[in-house]
Amino acid sequence: MTSPATPIQAAGEPPAVILPDAASLFAARARRFEQLADGHALGDWLRFLAAITQAQHDALQTLPALALPDAAALAQARAHRMPPLPAQSWLRDPAWREVLDSICTRIAPTAPEAGQVELRRLRSFSADALDELATNVLHTELYGDDAALLPYVAAALQVLWTGAAARLGDRVAALDVPAVCPCCGFLPVASVVRRSGDVSNLRYLHCALCNTEWNFVRIKCPTCDATAGIGYRQLEGANGTPLPAGAVRAETCESCKAYLKIIYQEQGAVDPVADDLATLALDILVDEAGYARSGPNLLLMPG
Ligand SMILES: [Zn+2]
Ligand SMILES: [Zn+2]
Repeated sequence: MTSPATPIQAAGEPPAVILPDAASLFAARARRFEQLADGHALGDWLRFLAAITQAQHDALQTLPALALPDAAALAQARAHRMPPLPAQSWLRDPAWREVLDSICTRIAPTAPEAGQVELRRLRSFSADALDELATNVLHTELYGDDAALLPYVAAALQVLWTGAAARLGDRVAALDVPAVCPCCGFLPVASVVRRSGDVSNLRYLHCALCNTEWNFVRIKCPTCDATAGIGYRQLEGANGTPLPAGAVRAETCESCKAYLKIIYQEQGAVDPVADDLATLALDILVDEAGYARSGPNLLLMPG
């Protein structure tokens, strides 16, 4: 569960934007990956993702406070309803490569064979080459010969952006373009509907890069804004009964043929990134029905 750290709201209203909690977000996600791995057909992979996520947590706890845009730049972004830490143009601190290095060092001992090969390749890259991979991730160009290396790069960038987003306080406002993250302008990985506190039963889109969440109308396509032709699909159990974990649904849109998952918190913790990857079978189902996923999960590269 990502705990709401800094609700940004008027009295009596649910927060429009919820910034990530740097102290707990990745650790909670790692626990959720472990939980989902139990008895799962892809358990080994989910456990490796738990290790990557725990390494993200550790890296974030030791990351020095990096420079944020100054007060004037933040005020200007707010006035123009622009994201203050834009994925494609915020001058990222070179420290992101140290984060990458610490994540790789941490996960290498438990990485599966394929992962070992990828990590060795990554280690052979120059700083410039790594920066090029980072640019690919931040422009959602998630393909090419090095696509298998991008989840590690993305994991490091998530640490950087999450750490910065967590420190923005009340300086982030909702954007006019509700389909992208108000903090970094990146795409959502999924939406989440929680059962607790003042956000209970409300839908929030969750940023695939900086882990900020923003409130979004419950039945509406985040890609094209359509409110008609929205459908929901979910996985079924062996006898056609919904799985107990049927708390994940794909929201499909007939107008633009896009889909994104909604994670419903029934009991216990959920995490948009982990619960999304534990339900890849649903992606296959919806893909075969002719819908294209609208936002990436950066820990998984297509293909
Ligand atoms: Zn973001
Ligand atoms: Zn649509």
